[in-house]
Amino acid sequence: MVIKNVELEIVCGVTSKIPDTELPEVAFAGKSNVGKSSLINGLMNRKSLARTSSQPGKTQTINFYNINKFMYLVDLPGYGYAKVSENEKKKWGKMIENYLHTSKQLKAVFLLIDIRHEPSANDKMMYEWIVYQGYDPIIVATKLDKIKRSQIQKSVKMVKEGLNVKPGTKIIPYSALTKQGRDEIWELMDELVGY
Ligand code: GDP
Repeated sequence: MVIKNVELEIVCGVTSKIPDTELPEVAFAGKSNVGKSSLINGLMNRKSLARTSSQPGKTQTINFYNINKFMYLVDLPGYGYAKVSENEKKKWGKMIENYLHTSKQLKAVFLLIDIRHEPSANDKMMYEWIVYQGYDPIIVATKLDKIKRSQIQKSVKMVKEGLNVKPGTKIIPYSALTKQGRDEIWELMDELVGY
């Protein structure tokens, strides 16, 4: 998709109702600091529309970006930020669960995992949540530029095994610096939203 128009149209807080939108939605989940804002900005060709983590985990909202009046890119709150209270974590979980459960327009969920590290317990839980809600998560392995080319295959395998992904699960390595992987993600999104 050629990005012509992007607008942060809906911001959904803990107490807000999940909006009943008219356009197909694609959502992005990942633990805080994984590179979700950088990926979303990269996909939308914006430098800083999605928040970057100066205050990780602070803003617990679901943000709906309207792209070309054709689809929504949905930014789910980053999870796993240590300094957030148990109560906040619970609220966060309810919000994501509620969104995955309620959205009628959600076509797919992308789950971001840092390519350098083994998936955490929270990552695994998120993966299973998405599956439980009936979606096949698409994995984006972020910060690709931080590993050597010779390590890519091994790291991808580590992520796959760590999450215990279903056979056939797509995993796309991405770098916010080089934008490697961007075209592949967009091809997939175009297909998902029927562009
Ligand atoms: P978020 O909390 O998931 O939204 O993460 P951010 O997008 O704010 O990124 C967290 C930190 O990782 C920031 O310092 C980014 O500059 C850095 N970062 C994100 N993506 C990449 C990447 O692909 N390569 C490198 N080298 N750094 C990245």
